[in-house]
Amino acid sequence: MKKTLYLKFLLAYGIFGIFGLVILATFVPSMTREHLIREKADSLYSEATLIANTYARNLYNSEISLEAVKDQLDALAVYLESSIQIINPSGRLILDTDTPIDVENEVIIEKFDSTIAGSSYYVIDDFFDFYPQDVLSVIAPITANYMVKGYVVIHTDMVSIDESLSSLLNISYITLIILFLLSLIILIFFTEIVYMPLRKITYATEQYATGNMHYEFSVDSEDEIGYLAACLSYMASEIARSEDDQKKFVANVSHDFRSPLTSIQGYLEAMLDGTIPPELHEKYLNIVLTETQRLTKLTNSLLTLNNLNTKGMLLDITDFDINQVIRSTAASFEGTCLKKSIAIELILTDEVMYVKADMSKIQQVLYNLIDNAIKFSHHNSVIKVETTEKKNKIFVSVKDTGIGIPKEDLKLIWDRFYKSDLSRGKDKKGTGLGLSITKEIIHSHNEHINVISTPGEGSEFIFSLPRSEENDEDD
Ligand code: ADP
Repeated sequence: MKKTLYLKFLLAYGIFGIFGLVILATFVPSMTREHLIREKADSLYSEATLIANTYARNLYNSEISLEAVKDQLDALAVYLESSIQIINPSGRLILDTDTPIDVENEVIIEKFDSTIAGSSYYVIDDFFDFYPQDVLSVIAPITANYMVKGYVVIHTDMVSIDESLSSLLNISYITLIILFLLSLIILIFFTEIVYMPLRKITYATEQYATGNMHYEFSVDSEDEIGYLAACLSYMASEIARSEDDQKKFVANVSHDFRSPLTSIQGYLEAMLDGTIPPELHEKYLNIVLTETQRLTKLTNSLLTLNNLNTKGMLLDITDFDINQVIRSTAASFEGTCLKKSIAIELILTDEVMYVKADMSKIQQVLYNLIDNAIKFSHHNSVIKVETTEKKNKIFVSVKDTGIGIPKEDLKLIWDRFYKSDLSRGKDKKGTGLGLSITKEIIHSHNEHINVISTPGEGSEFIFSLPRSEENDEDD
């Protein structure tokens, strides 16, 4: 059988009940009996001492008659629910509240010994065979003129003590049962607060373990269990999301690889089987070359992205002049700009402006942004690359007056493989990976990149970099 937490708790609850009962049935009766006997013996002994020092002593001093003492003690015996005796040291019974005075027939208690109680002040036995059953007896000496004249003995039967004991025990049993029933509340609380939420969590964990990451559950409590459930649920949704992302990623990669490969294969087959005549070969080989270039670009971008993700971006941080990097990157686009009659205008803060960053990665960011700006700009336009300094940060902006980005696309352009519908016609070689690489690089520097764009008017991409202290040394 599966050992559930609930069963264990029930078992502990059962053990608690049984132990309580066993303790109540074994230790408690004997302890309570002893306590009751001692209490009774205490009060009887005080009474016996009192009688010994008053009536009994007066009796021995002949200050009071035997009948008068008997009357007094009879009344007291009824009140105490006991028998009171006055016994001579020899064992002769002088007075017994149970029997009338009979001077003719002397009653001698054989083997009477006043030290019967030993170190204690009471004894439980049949009092030298005087009683057929055990009684509780206390003995107090009667002294007069420094001599023991006799003893006051009070007996009480054990029935009354046993009755008190059983009624006390009954109260204890009832209390135990009430306690046991009350502790059921703990069981109910445990079930509601711990067991049921835990079962939900366990079931959900089983679902996640079998791969059902979309399983949804909730635990409505604000304690640690509720927090655990919320964390588990969040973890599963994150895993599900990343699984979905991965699937989308693979689908995108396959799609982007398949289309150039299909066209390469189609053109080559057509050239081989003569569908494309040899005089047109050069034209189609150029198309094939463009497609292979696109595949190379795609592969390189994927590799870059993969490195960025897996290495947690190992940056080679140095102090370098961002103005210089901007100038050289802009210069590398000279040929492309000439073809489209585009001018790149550089508006740089100072002659030199040092930043603290990974130079080659920032070069790549600039390359991606300027490349996009040129791709999406119209002929005969100007692209502005500007740097500004604000509170230890250098802001680099790449601004074009091209096609712009529709508002609904602004958030999506940073996603892998995203290409807006507008751009598809303009940029057939694009992979949709450039901006996601750019964003990863800037974020890994703990910096930010933003875009402001109006469709038909142009776009501006601005990213920040930490200013280097070298600037201050130069001043
Ligand atoms: P790609 O390599 O295809 O250019 P990017 O990730 O660099 O991929 O860009 C994603 C999309 O963002 C582009 O397809 C385009 O729709 C849009 N985009 C990026 N830069 C600009 C820009 N300067 N002007 C207009 N649209 C842009």
